[in-house]
Amino acid sequence: MERVISSLRKIVRDENAVMIDEPMSRHTTFGVGGTADIFISAAVDELKDIISLLIEEKCPYTVVGNGSNLLVSDKGIRGAVICIGKRMSSVEIIEGDSGSIIKAASGAMLPIVAKKACDSGLTGLEFATQIPGTIGGAVYMNAGAFGGDMSDTVQSVTTIDMNGAVKHYKSEEADFGYRTSIFSKKNEIITEAVLGLLKGDKDRISEKVLSIHEKRAASQPVGKRSAGSTFRKISDGDTPESMTPAWKLIQQAGMKDASVGRARVSEKHSGFVINDGGATAADIYTLINEIIDQVKNRTGVTLEPEIKMLGEF
Ligand SMILES: Cc1cc2nc3c(=O)[nH]c(=O)nc-3n(C[C@H](O)[C@H](O)[C@H](O)COP(=O)(O)OP(=O)(O)OC[C@H]3O[C@@H](n4cnc5c(N)ncnc54)[C@H](O)[C@@H]3O)c2cc1C
Repeated sequence: MERVISSLRKIVRDENAVMIDEPMSRHTTFGVGGTADIFISAAVDELKDIISLLIEEKCPYTVVGNGSNLLVSDKGIRGAVICIGKRMSSVEIIEGDSGSIIKAASGAMLPIVAKKACDSGLTGLEFATQIPGTIGGAVYMNAGAFGGDMSDTVQSVTTIDMNGAVKHYKSEEADFGYRTSIFSKKNEIITEAVLGLLKGDKDRISEKVLSIHEKRAASQPVGKRSAGSTFRKISDGDTPESMTPAWKLIQQAGMKDASVGRARVSEKHSGFVINDGGATAADIYTLINEIIDQVKNRTGVTLEPEIKMLGEF
């Protein structure tokens, strides 16, 4: 491990960007998770050498963005965590006649990109101003809300694979679906996304953003530590309208007040498991599994977590 760390420090220019035994609770919106052996905040031109070193040294690695869709085990993560965040966060707006293109590095925060778009009178990202992920995490998950998702605007995605080769995907090659994309089946790191947005009416854009913020504040546990919707909607057909939200099934199963330790089902939205202050990853994990069991017993439906679990549970 010592050799890996000293080699990494030669590759990574920022001396504070390679951390040892870094608590993942600092890098997840749930605020839980044990330590990562090595935590690297990467820059795009360092990625090829970082990946090649880790593979050569047989050091496993995990890629994270802002940790807003993650449950990391209390035992932490062995090997290296490559965090795509503030060292890869450039955003460029290139104006066209009827719309603009936004070139966003994958560590740029989605709410910042969405706000820039809205402030520039560009429509298409209003749904995203409060989704606390990075562009990379949002593309990987095809994040969405209130009728929109990333696939509506993504024109192309750039990645780097395990051999350090740079790859380009057109939107139609990204296989976007409900909270999924081709990138969840590939071992590649998303480095950039190009988004296409149309010119819109600034007042209408602001009204739409405000109305979405009001809906969120009224229906979701804003300000509580969570990873957003804990479970995927259940598909009863091919369209989003034909999906059953998990909160309905959780309520039907009598689990709306369920808790384990300091993890509980949000009073405001039964589809959110929250860290009510001092929860462990084990509390959250146990509660998720109790919900899955009870929903299965009472309704016959098997809920699937939307959040990604990292480490050993
Ligand atoms: C309060 C709150 C509200 C939320 N609301 C919504 C919502 O309305 N809609 C919605 O869809 N989600 C929502 N989420 C969930 C979350 O914000 C999104 O899924 C977001 O897109 C995750 O991005 P991230 O950067 O945090 O990714 P992470 O959580 O760090 O990672 C998620 C997955 O993406 C992979 N990944 C991340 N970055 C990269 C990269 N650069 N290259 C390759 N793989 C990568 C990781 O390996 C992991 O498997 C919410 C979360 C919170 C806490």
